[in-house]
Amino acid sequence: PGTAGYVGRFAPSPTGLLHAGSLVAALASWLDARANQGRWLVRIEDVDHPRCISGADTAILGQLAACGLLPDEPPVWQSQRSAPYETALQRLAAAGKVYPCACSRRDIELALAASGQTPDRHGERVYPGTCRDGLHGRIGRAWRLRTTGVGGMPMHITWQDRRLGSQQQDLSTEVGDFVLKRADGLWAYQLAVVVDDAAQGITHVVRGEDLADNTPRQIHLQRQLGLPSPRWLHTPLVLAGDGQKLSKQNGAQPLDLKEPLQALQKAAAALGLPPATATSLPDWLAESVQAWATLYPLPEQTVPPLVA
Ligand code: GLU
Repeated sequence: PGTAGYVGRFAPSPTGLLHAGSLVAALASWLDARANQGRWLVRIEDVDHPRCISGADTAILGQLAACGLLPDEPPVWQSQRSAPYETALQRLAAAGKVYPCACSRRDIELALAASGQTPDRHGERVYPGTCRDGLHGRIGRAWRLRTTGVGGMPMHITWQDRRLGSQQQDLSTEVGDFVLKRADGLWAYQLAVVVDDAAQGITHVVRGEDLADNTPRQIHLQRQLGLPSPRWLHTPLVLAGDGQKLSKQNGAQPLDLKEPLQALQKAAAALGLPPATATSLPDWLAESVQAWATLYPLPEQTVPPLVA
């Protein structure tokens, strides 16, 4: 059974080539789109251009093509989309939902040390809210989104993940007011991803579990902008020998394009799919779509109540 209007996407950052870990997210998002007769788009997330590697975007598209993962529309590059990001920020500013922030990293560390806060397991800290009520003569450089609810209430977000189940986060106490435009003038991932998922009509996000704790921020931002939230599925991660998520930093090798089927088989195993028996790439992909549909079925769509 298809899902009317399914649109999925794979959104790589061109900071290097695809490796065994990033192929898992690419394959999972493609399989989910195909299993639901949907469209599958590719978006190159190159907003953090100092971290991007020249030519990695086309190389990634080549790797995907070698694996038989072909987008249904021409890819979109975030570096060419400043105008809609600016419009979104202006709308939030006009509604008083964002504020300029003058704090340097050092200012934040000092304020947090004074309040006795220690970094969490990701080394991240909750912004102490220094600039929330005005700059007091300092010069604003970044823009932050408010994360407090009505009347200063905590901003508690609950959401459903198709694999992880019910999830929750208190944005005010666990994340704090987060950056949408950085002090160096670059757009933050959170703003770009939300604006683009909406602009591309993405209905289903399938991506690695390392991004799951960004989801409440994105849901909050979607609500502030009056945008619909997609459904979410966060996939298992491929771990490196040190037990950390496999990444370029801990030795992930670029995919071997001469053996796309082997790379895909490993990615499918990481997703918990039973081994497919087909030996040609198109047959292997078709068989895996069937297996995926069984393992990760879409929950019944809830029918919205009729409004008279
Ligand atoms: N560009 C992000 C990354 O490569 C993924 C963003 C997303 O899927 O939401 O980690």
